[in-house]
Amino acid sequence: ITISPDQIENQKITLTSEQYHYLIRVLRLQKSDRFIAMNGQGQWWLAKLLGQQAEIIEPIAIHTELPISVTLIIALPKNGFDEVVKQITELGVTKIIPVISDRTILKPSPQKIDRWRRIANEAAEQSERQIVPEIREPIPFKNSFSLVNQPKYICYARGNSPHLLNYLIPPSNTAITIATGPEGGWTEKEIQEAIAAEFQTVSLGKRILTATLAPIVALSLVTATTEM
Ligand code: SAM
Repeated sequence: ITISPDQIENQKITLTSEQYHYLIRVLRLQKSDRFIAMNGQGQWWLAKLLGQQAEIIEPIAIHTELPISVTLIIALPKNGFDEVVKQITELGVTKIIPVISDRTILKPSPQKIDRWRRIANEAAEQSERQIVPEIREPIPFKNSFSLVNQPKYICYARGNSPHLLNYLIPPSNTAITIATGPEGGWTEKEIQEAIAAEFQTVSLGKRILTATLAPIVALSLVTATTEM
């Protein structure tokens, strides 16, 4: 489970009723059973269930993070972003910046953003990550430019851009940013603006991938090349 710092005092965790019910009803734990608690910022503990409280037994050292920080700028697809958040969290994304592009159809509600953050929390727990990826509030695509550093790549399904793999082998960066477009693709104006902001256009292969698959494929290439 993921806990916040104010839930820990004197080696004891005070569980919220939601967490307590999750441990008892969903995971079927009993008193004295052990479970893992994390704070979403890299710290993990082995804990023993006492009741509404749990006792911290010891910190756990795990190393499941990618050796590179990956920011994904994703033009919000009309459907399926929940699943994208889940899968890129499992793969190891560091930061997600959902953006509104010229051809974006979805206008996200605050409830949706809360849901994406909950999904990321659960996915980070299940894949035993040390951190929960940060999910920013959606912003216009252009406003994301100043939030990210080089190297920056924009996946472009048209034209003859070099394949993203060309820039990933041999792995040489400690941080990377990759942007993917919506169902209808980026407009020519957006591509030109991104290039002016020092994004390099890249290909993900000869076939056109959906707006939901493209960020997953791009991140898979980063995980494969940095962890092989
Ligand atoms: N008709 C759109 C176009 O012409 O760009 C297709 C958009 S595609 C469904 C959604 C997004 O996925 C694209 O904007 C791009 O970022 C990414 N994408 C999909 N296939 C790609 C490929 N083969 N190479 C690079 N990017 C790709």
